[in-house]
Amino acid sequence: MQIKKIAIPKNHPRLKSLLIREKLADGFNKGIVSNQGLIAHGRGEAFDYLLGESTTNNAKNAMKTASATLFLAKFPIISINGNIAALCSKEIIELSNILNAKLEVNLFYHSTKRKKIIANLLQKEGAKEILGVKKKSLKQINNLESMRRVVDENGIYKADVVLVPLEDGDRCIKLKQLGKTVITFDLNPFSRTSQTADITIIDNVVRGIKYLVNISKELSNKDTKYLKRIVTVFNNKKNIDLSVLQINNNLIKNVINHE
Ligand code: ATP
Repeated sequence: MQIKKIAIPKNHPRLKSLLIREKLADGFNKGIVSNQGLIAHGRGEAFDYLLGESTTNNAKNAMKTASATLFLAKFPIISINGNIAALCSKEIIELSNILNAKLEVNLFYHSTKRKKIIANLLQKEGAKEILGVKKKSLKQINNLESMRRVVDENGIYKADVVLVPLEDGDRCIKLKQLGKTVITFDLNPFSRTSQTADITIIDNVVRGIKYLVNISKELSNKDTKYLKRIVTVFNNKKNIDLSVLQINNNLIKNVINHE
């Protein structure tokens, strides 16, 4: 008997999550994702499970504020790592076009080769300009141990607002010390990044990025006063608390269901 190989059955209850893993594994095989990036995704998945694997209203609120903040920025930058490139490069490029924000490849597990592979992918997907790859425009952020310290002088180095989907805690703290506004996607509301950023989007970046693109299209014709109002009423700490409460409620609901 010949057995047809099926990687993931279409009716698998965890289909979406498994397809994301496939994308990351594919990215790893192509040299885009680091092996540590695969593990980092696992930490995110665990929190996504606890959050209910859907985009919450507070995540939407954070994304609306993130979009308004990026529109109000003088020099907005979007930082790209291996996981982001493998998971949502098309959406990130679309977002950068809507917001008029530049793209910079910036890796925790630094490798010139991997940077180039990521830049090539972004170029193939239609990105016009990619920062972080030209050696002569690279600068270092002082007093930061990780290779995330290597930034582009025309990008993160001079940016006032940085969108760093999946940031590392040390660098997030450093960027804040340098006076930059930091926006991040992080499924873990307890991470140092989540706790330190100005705007923390507690959502799976694969889901959230589509919402961020759409809300940015909606806000693209709004005036400064309208955008500033969105930013003024937002409270990041309270918004993070709502995600923690959501996790708590999901856990309790599960216990009650088994009584
Ligand atoms: P920190 O350094 O901020 O305290 P950490 O050491 O957990 O946190 P990293 O290992 O650098 O952070 O990055 C992984 C983070 O990215 C995790 O907090 C994880 O929840 C989050 N993450 C992973 N995959 C996704 C995803 N697809 N969407 C959103 N967040 C994700």
